[in-house]
Amino acid sequence: MEQPVPAHSDRTRRGFLRWGIAVAAATLPTPSWAAALGTAKRRLSFVNLHTDETLTALYWANGSYQHNAVQDINHLLRDFRTGDVHAIDLRLLDLLYTLQHRVRSQSPFQVISGYRSPATNAKLAALSDGVAYNSYHMRGMAIDIALADRALPALHQAALSLRAGGVGFYPKPGFVHVDVGPVRTW
Ligand SMILES: [Zn+2]
Repeated sequence: MEQPVPAHSDRTRRGFLRWGIAVAAATLPTPSWAAALGTAKRRLSFVNLHTDETLTALYWANGSYQHNAVQDINHLLRDFRTGDVHAIDLRLLDLLYTLQHRVRSQSPFQVISGYRSPATNAKLAALSDGVAYNSYHMRGMAIDIALADRALPALHQAALSLRAGGVGFYPKPGFVHVDVGPVRTW
C-alpha cells in the first residue's frame, strides 16, 4: 500500500519546495545519501515503458542543473494518459543518479510511472489498493522504476540503504517506487 502524503507537513513542504527550486540545490547542504553527487557531470537515461520513448539527459553540469535537459526529463516523465507535464523535483533526479551509482547499473531507468495528474491518480487509486489517493506522483516527487541489468530486490535494497525518502516494493508488477517525501517503507 502506497503511503499517503502526511497532511500536517503539506504546507511547509510546499513552501520548502518552492524556495528550494528558486535558489537551486547548490546552496543547500548535500544530504548524506548523495555522496555520489560530487562529480562534474550528472547524466540520467530513461526508457518509458508506456510510450517506448528513450532519453539520455545531462541534467547537471558546470555546477548547475541544465534547464533544457530537465525539461526533456519532465516531458518523458509526463502523465502519458493525459499528456500533462509537471516539473519533476530535482532532488528526485539526484536520488536516481545516486541510486544508479549505488547498484553500478549501466541500464537506463525503465519508467513505469512518473508524474500522475490528479485525474489519472484518482482513476488508478480507485482500481488498486497499491495506489494512494494523495500520492507524491502528483507532485513530481515520485517515480516507479526498474533496471534491466539489476534484479528488483537489489534495486530495492539499494533504495532502502539511501534512506532518501519513501521506498515501496512491488515485485508482482515488477518495480520499485521511490520518492523524496519523508523516509518510510512499504
Ligand atoms: Zn509509485
